[in-house]
Amino acid sequence: MAKELDSCPFCQSLDISLENFGVGRHRGFHGHCNDCGADGPIGDDSDEASDRWNTRYDKKKRGDGHGPRRG
Ligand SMILES: [Zn+2]
Repeated sequence: MAKELDSCPFCQSLDISLENFGVGRHRGFHGHCNDCGADGPIGDDSDEASDRWNTRYDKKKRGDGHGPRRG
């Protein structure tokens, strides 16, 4: 089951989904804001991605997400 995801740190949207990408060993998951396009830090599975999205401020140095896409 999917965990609850906190609101987007950039636009406060609650429309956050978990996306997976890649294949095999390179597969990863991250939280994605459907409003502004921000991506959260990547996790090896959906649980890890959820945790990283929700704790992005606490673990700022480990985060590799990015803000809204422009243009
Ligand atoms: Zn957003």
